Amino acid sequence: MTQKLGKNLDGYHGETIDIRSVLREIETAAPAHGWTSEIFHTHGDLDWIALHRPSRSTSTLCSAATEDGDHAARKRIHISAGIHGDEPAGPLAALKLIQDDRWPGNMEIFLLPCLNPLGFLRNQRANPDGIDLNRDYRNPQSTETRRHIAWLERQPQFDLYLCLHEDWEAHGFYLYETNPDERTPLAEIMIAAVAPVCPVDGSEIIEGRPAQGGIIRPKISLHDRPDWPEAFYHITHKARQGYTLEAPSDFPLPIRVNALVAAVNAAVNSLTAGLMD
Ligand SMILES: [Zn+2]
Repeated sequence: MTQKLGKNLDGYHGETIDIRSVLREIETAAPAHGWTSEIFHTHGDLDWIALHRPSRSTSTLCSAATEDGDHAARKRIHISAGIHGDEPAGPLAALKLIQDDRWPGNMEIFLLPCLNPLGFLRNQRANPDGIDLNRDYRNPQSTETRRHIAWLERQPQFDLYLCLHEDWEAHGFYLYETNPDERTPLAEIMIAAVAPVCPVDGSEIIEGRPAQGGIIRPKISLHDRPDWPEAFYHITHKARQGYTLEAPSDFPLPIRVNALVAAVNAAVNSLTAGLMD
């Protein structure tokens, strides 16, 4: 079993990435695999990009059916990464997912590979003003979050959201599930897919919350909490099921990237299994 590196004792001290070159690679790979790209914010030479890949479902039977039938034939997902600038596995996982191109045909994907590029320039969690963007989704103060929300308001509803993160304190991979309508859970399927490529955190308490087999099902109180993470915005406005995925930063970067990629692949395949294609 892979051992922890023991480097991250008071914060993240692991590998860093050149976010400009990762974003350039993403912008090169995406159109070659059928993605379109929209810039929803710029600062200096950095662009905040939203990638879109339409469903490739060829079923005319389904598309010609009722609104419900049409919708049931394909699923829509929002995947975001890089909201914390000291968590390089997320943007790298986005790049690998684009390059691997293993998406189910009946899935429409919105992929935001880096929500905090300025944080990556400094290898820091927050943006340059010290704002943790993942606590800024209720009454947004940062331009980055305001622009992301303005973009979200122009998009359709999603069936699922996935937020790609890392945790430098974790003993292995874990995730948060938010599923208030009790739809078919995807948590166990994702953990099972990650386990062969990355250790799973088996702690009974993670980040102060009860956990089981790397799964946290938090009791969320949207209205008591002023500092909404991105996930709270999605649950309130855009998607009724979603996951925050946490790769363990104290393991080598390729393992963390593979863990996030395995979890995303498992979620999208499970979500679209059984749909007409
Ligand atoms: Zn994070």
